[in-house]
Amino acid sequence: MDTTRPTTIVLGAGVVGLSTALYLQRSGHNVTVVDPLPPAGGASYGNSGLISSDTAVPIALPGMLGKVPKWLADPMGPLVVRPSYFPRALPWLLRWIAASRMERVLKISDAMRALHKESLKCWREMLGPELFADLILPVGQIRLWEGGGAESTIEMAIAERHGIRAEPLDADALRQIYPDIAPGITRGLLIPGNAYTVSPQRLVRTLGELLVAAGGEIVAERTQKIIPRGGAAGFLLMNNITNRTAQRVVVATGAWTRELLDPLGIRVPLQTERGYHAMMPSPNITLKIPMSIKNRGFGLTSMEDGLRAGGTVEIDSLHAAPNEKRAMILMEHVKRVFPTLQTGEPRYWMGHRPSTPDSLPVLGVVPNQPGLFLAFGHGHFGMTGGPPSGRLVAQLINGATPAIDPAPYSCTRF
Ligand SMILES: Cc1cc2nc3c(=O)[nH]c(=O)nc-3n(C[C@H](O)[C@H](O)[C@H](O)COP(=O)(O)OP(=O)(O)OC[C@H]3O[C@@H](n4cnc5c(N)ncnc54)[C@H](O)[C@@H]3O)c2cc1C
Repeated sequence: MDTTRPTTIVLGAGVVGLSTALYLQRSGHNVTVVDPLPPAGGASYGNSGLISSDTAVPIALPGMLGKVPKWLADPMGPLVVRPSYFPRALPWLLRWIAASRMERVLKISDAMRALHKESLKCWREMLGPELFADLILPVGQIRLWEGGGAESTIEMAIAERHGIRAEPLDADALRQIYPDIAPGITRGLLIPGNAYTVSPQRLVRTLGELLVAAGGEIVAERTQKIIPRGGAAGFLLMNNITNRTAQRVVVATGAWTRELLDPLGIRVPLQTERGYHAMMPSPNITLKIPMSIKNRGFGLTSMEDGLRAGGTVEIDSLHAAPNEKRAMILMEHVKRVFPTLQTGEPRYWMGHRPSTPDSLPVLGVVPNQPGLFLAFGHGHFGMTGGPPSGRLVAQLINGATPAIDPAPYSCTRF
């Protein structure tokens, strides 16, 4: 280890922690990443792999309030709140509804756009051209609606506001791209500027490999508590099998972040939106372009190890057991879109989206806590916003001019 370089510890080896670690390393830091799980052992493992650089639509949109009773009533709908968890989720849900006001939505969308439009550039920077070409396919994404639905007016207004290209597809155009699609699906929207990865797991693991190959360290430890030692003395990390000290610590622990911040008195409204996937190992259908089926809230992506249906939102505790039925129902949804699909025995998975009520991550400094930096809360868009977030946090740590304005992502906004 070069002892003349600053040393920084990053907590969390998901897409956000490893992107931050890599940008820090390349700007001259010795970096240690702490995580009890191997790289991509959290939400970064099983997501739908959509890199939505040309998407800037927050999750909470006008009209959400009226939908809450329906969500509570349908346990297999695209968004559910477990009734017994509802009182605990209520403060977060109220903030979420407040974020759906039109003027907030437009501001949030601007901040999402600033981050997301840098995504492919940052992935390219981190991976280099060969690994990028191997792992990321910039072929666009297609949004679909069953039963004649369509992009909402607000979604169209947001695309127009940011000059995002979107090409409507009629039934014939859809059938050329997806010859096996159900006859009832007749409308789609191609977003050509979006992309996807053939393997979220291998993509994020590759970030870890690049870090280690350049002298970084990833240690299999869990931080139990962050203890400030005062000023330049930095922090003591009480980990499960050792103690570590560092002048700078980045907290990138995804949905688990409140367990570390609450004891420091740093309050952020973070809720896990649990999501599921069904991975079909030997499908008889391959998608040239990934799709998201908007009315059912899931994505369908051909990956290197099969066809993945991933999505749905379940508001519940971090520690509650998965409800496998929510993963299984994805298979029924997929068969509605591709009635002739054969798949082999699917594998099921649940992951924890780290979600803020306003769909924006929490990035940057903590007031009165010099040396502590935050990088979490990417919700539905970590594979997209993770790399530009890592770059931004590294720039803030280095005192460099940030590539984008960090203000909208500050932890003080709540
Ligand atoms: C079903 C589903 C589909 C999705 N689809 C997409 C998509 O298509 N496109 C997209 O952009 N995003 C998608 N997402 C969201 C995306 O997966 C997340 O936003 C992203 O993975 C979050 O990354 P992260 O690094 O913050 O968290 P994680 O990947 O969860 O990593 C956090 C890490 O912190 C570690 N950790 C926790 N506590 C501690 C501790 N005390 N000490 C040390 N380490 C700790 C955990 O072990 C974990 O490895 C999807 C999510 C789900 C669930």
